[in-house]
Amino acid sequence: MPELPEVETARSLIADEALSRLIVDVDDSDTFVCRPYSPGELRDALIGRTLTAAHRRGKAMWVETSEVGGSQVTGPDLGIHLGMSGRIVVRSSGGQAAEGGGPRRRDAQPRKAEWDRFTLTFADGGSLVLLDKRRLGRVRLNPDIDALGPDAATVTPAEFRNLITKGSIAVKARLLDQSKIAGVGNLLADEILWKAKVSPAARTGSLQRKDADRLYRALKAAVESATAKGGVHTGDVIAARHPSGTCPRCGAEMRHGTVGGRSTWWCSREQAAEVQSG
Ligand SMILES: [Zn+2]
Repeated sequence: MPELPEVETARSLIADEALSRLIVDVDDSDTFVCRPYSPGELRDALIGRTLTAAHRRGKAMWVETSEVGGSQVTGPDLGIHLGMSGRIVVRSSGGQAAEGGGPRRRDAQPRKAEWDRFTLTFADGGSLVLLDKRRLGRVRLNPDIDALGPDAATVTPAEFRNLITKGSIAVKARLLDQSKIAGVGNLLADEILWKAKVSPAARTGSLQRKDADRLYRALKAAVESATAKGGVHTGDVIAARHPSGTCPRCGAEMRHGTVGGRSTWWCSREQAAEVQSG
């Protein structure tokens, strides 16, 4: 599932390749991905405009659009959510495709035309496509991002310390709470906790300042590394998240349980604390 680093690769692709290209056609016929709009509504809202800036907070991404014709009024923000497996494909005027949104699976089936859930066609003959086999992505205008916490890539140490030490829930559940901090999904949370040597089940209220600061450094390092390497699957502990897996740092057995409602792996020695399974 795309987490912050995967969405960032999609955002930067749009920022690098899709801005300032005139939109001459829009395929918004997938009424599920484009709900609640009817076919043609997104087309009418976007045609004749260009994309002008690509933004992201957590896993939410949106693109500003230009005015149309002689109007002084800029267009709506185009929100594109990648869902569970969506990818962005931008084609040049010559038909060359670049992709963002995380790694392509090696065992990927040949792509089918219907996986193109939403397409902007540019005047130069190129396009921007939301490719989404599972159809869990979503396109909408002016998405509401106010409910999201600060972005995990830009949260400040003070903001982070405050949000990670309040209340008394499992620290992993807090990391996954998009309203508190936006962009951390299941794999990134396990990587951060492992890097910081903090038990996923540790209570937020029990964390000391030094724990919070270690978690902050782990968050920054994990996000930067995953963004540079192309996705959260590249994390140091990710390959050890399986039965008989061993900690890549100390060699101890990895443990498994459910924390924050999600499948969780942690080092039995360095992240030792009671975790209730189930
Ligand atoms: Zn270990």
